[in-house]
Amino acid sequence: MNLQKQRIALVAHDNLKPTLVKWAKENRHILADCELFATGTTGKLVTEHTGLLVSCFLSGPYGGDQQIGARISEGLIDILIFFWDPMTPVPHDADVKALIRLATLKNIPIANNQSTADCVLALVQQQVSPSVRHRVLPKGMHSFVPRHPISLAH
Ligand code: PGA
Repeated sequence: MNLQKQRIALVAHDNLKPTLVKWAKENRHILADCELFATGTTGKLVTEHTGLLVSCFLSGPYGGDQQIGARISEGLIDILIFFWDPMTPVPHDADVKALIRLATLKNIPIANNQSTADCVLALVQQQVSPSVRHRVLPKGMHSFVPRHPISLAH
């Protein structure tokens, strides 16, 4: 049995932080089986509201996005959940672009909004409960297999 967990990076711009925290609370049972990373403020909020263990990097505008990007380029992150704000400019726009570029280049799943994050997490969950696979997966996504299936072992 593969004991490796999905390594998920969480990032949310300020206006989207409540959305990400709510999503993390709703999906706490799945995320608890994953290894979580986040930019500083996002990770602190997720930990406070869910009790989940999150390895926090620097705050995004102070280099956190770049730290996550570096780990993605090294193959150390499997999934990026990045709720970026399409309506508000940010001072570290170059870092945001670089992060998305590296995640795209490394061909890891990138969820930029809640509905996509739901799809990605459903695919992670199917590793736990294969019987829900055809019930939860959107059409056309049945062939996706996360690179590191998570384990039921405790
Ligand atoms: P933060 O960074 O979680 O530290 O706020 C997110 C970002 O703006 O990239």
